[in-house]
Amino acid sequence: MTLSKRTYKVIDLLRLIAQASPICMMLNIILSIIHTIMSTAIMALATANFVDTATVILKGERPHDDIYIPLFLLLLVLGVNTTIGAVVQLVGSRINLNLQRKLKPVMVRIHAALEFKHIENAESWELISRVSRDPIKSIMDGFGALIQFMQIMISVVSILILIVAHVWWAAITIIAFSTPMFILSTWAGKKNYQAGREAEKFNRRTEYLNEVLTGRDAVDERTLFGYGNNVSKRWQEQYEAGRILQLKVMAKTFIILKCSSLLLALIALLIALTLISPVVSGELSAGMYMGIVSVVFSLINQLGWQMSWALEHISKAGEYMRDLSAFIMLNDDEGALSEPDIEPISLNMLEFRNVRFRYPSSERYILDGLSFSLQAGRHYAFVGKNGAGKTTITKLITGLYKDYEGEILINGKELRQYPASTLKAMFSVVYQDFAKYYISLRDNIAIGNLADMTAPCLTDVIKFAGLDETIAELKDGIDTPLGKILEGGQDISGGQWQRIAIARSLNSRAPVKMLDEPTSALDPISESQIYSEFEKLMEGKTTVLISHRLGSTKLADEILVIDDGKVIERGTHDELMGQNGQYANMFEAQRGWYQ
Ligand code: ADP
Repeated sequence: MTLSKRTYKVIDLLRLIAQASPICMMLNIILSIIHTIMSTAIMALATANFVDTATVILKGERPHDDIYIPLFLLLLVLGVNTTIGAVVQLVGSRINLNLQRKLKPVMVRIHAALEFKHIENAESWELISRVSRDPIKSIMDGFGALIQFMQIMISVVSILILIVAHVWWAAITIIAFSTPMFILSTWAGKKNYQAGREAEKFNRRTEYLNEVLTGRDAVDERTLFGYGNNVSKRWQEQYEAGRILQLKVMAKTFIILKCSSLLLALIALLIALTLISPVVSGELSAGMYMGIVSVVFSLINQLGWQMSWALEHISKAGEYMRDLSAFIMLNDDEGALSEPDIEPISLNMLEFRNVRFRYPSSERYILDGLSFSLQAGRHYAFVGKNGAGKTTITKLITGLYKDYEGEILINGKELRQYPASTLKAMFSVVYQDFAKYYISLRDNIAIGNLADMTAPCLTDVIKFAGLDETIAELKDGIDTPLGKILEGGQDISGGQWQRIAIARSLNSRAPVKMLDEPTSALDPISESQIYSEFEKLMEGKTTVLISHRLGSTKLADEILVIDDGKVIERGTHDELMGQNGQYANMFEAQRGWYQ
């Protein structure tokens, strides 16, 4: 199954389902049509037949035994109808399953292949979350609504045909009065939908507050600051605001729909009363009278609530399909899903030439005429204030953002000309907010080198990263699942997670290793120790250390001071101290951290 880049409309929902589950979809539609006709026209005819035969029998004009066939037919219609209803439900769950099996993986693939900028951008992230939250439910709800709408239309037509055949004027009266009812239902459906969208804003907030109140991530601070009651109050306020908003609209549409269906009920009553005279005069049989009257009343019910529900959900599905189109149209990154090359190419020289860059959501240039070059086998440090653009540089080097101005040359060739798999194999970064994978400690490290996941011997990496003690403390050693997701999982400390992230990077075969303040949660002295151990370990390799804490980076062969998107100073620690510039000032200011 595929999702091509184009605009999807509500009706395309049927196409998606047809791709995932063609037979079940056809079966569902056919059975729903049969179910509708059976429960309206056929039911009315069977009722009429039964009542008329019973009347004749009661008059003594036919033998008692003649009632069996009409009774059997009536029961047959009822039985078949109930069975079809159950089969339709069964077929529906089969469609659901097929969509889960075929559409969900396609959606996940599109999501995973999206360009990094869409994930970082708040607006596109909201769209992505909306579309991915529950795609199958949104599509199935839309499908259900379309079927419901079709059923209502079929029942209206079949009931009208039945009535026209017997009392044509009643049919005209019903059409005249049901048209405004139809318009009202459309209106109510739309209003409910808009209110739902408005309330979604509050739902998102309550979801977030709920996570803060009950989730594991915030448990420490929740206990420490004791903000539970306060947040709980806010949660309640947001919840109430959303609920009241929806309630108001529901109450309004309820009153209007109920009043108008009351009016229609009156009309139906009038029809029932006026049809008495043709019954008395013998133009209409008593059975047909009962059949028509009962289906007219059920029609009124359908024109009110069911119609409004169907239209509301069709609007919702339309909105979902619009979002889905926008989601599919987002640029994908051809290389996002590619694995790193097995054999990384070696780096001789990395050069930034007058690079300017701003994030897609902002007008401000974060890097503004940045130029520097790095040579293989040396240790570099990027230092500078928070927000100076240091992390942004790593994002450009690793190819996460490619729409920069100027040139980034790797071994003299423009970075954009390298396939993503080559860049992935060349650089390994331990980010400040490195990922914690709730899998075994071994796999946490092994995924750093996908080409050799089964590497039996991670001993060196474990030793270098200082994880020996941690592993000794774990129940099943290196194979212990971390976190609480897998059975037997164990929690470890923030510092231990940091060491695992560093081990993962060490295990990667990338010739250039970058540490982007993954140790910022540690105190300056511990950070400084980890950085100097890392430097020793990486002897002869190219490394880039990033920090705003200068004591940690002073051992680097060369230090680049970044400010306002440019390199303002460059040299060894001693050279920079001698220059008495920004580096020296910052170092002096931080001196106390290391004493
Ligand atoms: P540093 O690593 O030096 O602390 P960063 O490179 O993380 O700085 O950030 C530089 C600037 O870019 C900051 O002002 C930050 O607010 C901004 N920035 C970072 N990420 C984004 C983003 N995804 N969208 C818009 N602005 C961003």
